[in-house]
Amino acid sequence: MGSPLTITNESSWLRLQRHFSESFSGELVYRRRAYDVERVDDQRVKRWRNAYRYILLLLAVILLPIDIHNLYIGQMVPAAGGMALLAILMTNILLLSMNREAFLSPPLVMVLSIALVMLSIYYGQHHSLYLLYPLLVALPMLLKTRWAVLLAVLSGLMVSPLVFTQYETTTAIVIGASMGLTWLVSAWLVYAVTEQSRRLKDMAITDPLTGAYNRRYLELQLEQVLDSWKRYQRPASVLLIDIDNFKRINDKFGHGVGDMALKSLVDVISRNIRSVDTLCRYGGEEFVVLLAETGVAGARQAAEKLRAAVENSPVLPTGNMTISVGVCDLSVVEGVDHWLNLADGALYLAKRNGRNRVELAEAVVAPPASLEKTIPDWR
Ligand code: GH3
Ligand code: MG
Ligand code: MG
Repeated sequence: MGSPLTITNESSWLRLQRHFSESFSGELVYRRRAYDVERVDDQRVKRWRNAYRYILLLLAVILLPIDIHNLYIGQMVPAAGGMALLAILMTNILLLSMNREAFLSPPLVMVLSIALVMLSIYYGQHHSLYLLYPLLVALPMLLKTRWAVLLAVLSGLMVSPLVFTQYETTTAIVIGASMGLTWLVSAWLVYAVTEQSRRLKDMAITDPLTGAYNRRYLELQLEQVLDSWKRYQRPASVLLIDIDNFKRINDKFGHGVGDMALKSLVDVISRNIRSVDTLCRYGGEEFVVLLAETGVAGARQAAEKLRAAVENSPVLPTGNMTISVGVCDLSVVEGVDHWLNLADGALYLAKRNGRNRVELAEAVVAPPASLEKTIPDWR
């Protein structure tokens, strides 16, 4: 199975559905790779921090008027409790804004808030129940599972009768409406925070036309793989892929069809590589596949498979297109540039030997260029 790259024109409704289901599935499934695990974890911590900060802000905004009301009517005990909680919330918000850990965890904040609500109720401030609602809703939402959201809605519904028995109808309706609004706002905030950070990350590492990873991401991955080769001797190989006679395709069918062909190529390659392999758009119509844990023999097989798959896929209005592939494993490479240059030498050989071919870097007798040079003259 290849990578689940999105290459079709997905409608915004479908995209929204996908984002929602991923946000609540508890896992970041979108474009997950073995190498991404660390980054995804990093990202998860950041998202968690941001979301928690918003929730605390929400709590503080709700707490402030209740506290001012307590002060106004002279209920000093719940008022002092409210002040203390407000100070705790603000300190946590400040720490989270500085990208540091909050000194109180969500369960503790929850316990404190519930204690404050109890205190207020004891002193006759029943409207403090209102404070419970965003907590019941927002904290399970942060767990990001559908069941947690359902639980939150149910607990919200359970709070409603309390409100309705405490107040006359008009007040109850007003409080109920504010609760609904709070639920909407907290749901939206959690969604916006998680969605925004993921979109930014996606934009930074993917190519907008094809959805494949971009060159920046490739270089980071290659560095990582080289490090792990030096330390643990874990093999890896790259396939440098160039479409044959692509200029002619553009000339014959136009650039629009050329672009569609690039997207289809990404689709074909994605379906024919493993989920731990990484497909990147290296330049115009050149792609690199980084094959994890694969030596030169395996890489050659993978390249042959891709070459045949592309040859047999109807990606053009008339006829098919072909690719040439240069293969290089990392056993003799000295750095990222060296690795890509060796693969480029092999690709050059494949072109010279008639195109629609796979060649290995070790078959290249004379290196085609100096180590610093990444774009050879033949292109
Ligand atoms: P060869 O078999 O030697 O590779 O021949 P070629 O015609 O494919 O030559 P080359 O690899 O130099 O082709 C590069 C062409 O790819 C130049 C440019 O017109 C086209 N190209 C690069 N980027 C894009 C793109 O984003 N969209 C389209 N439609 N064409 C592109
Ligand atoms: Mg080219
Ligand atoms: Mg080409």
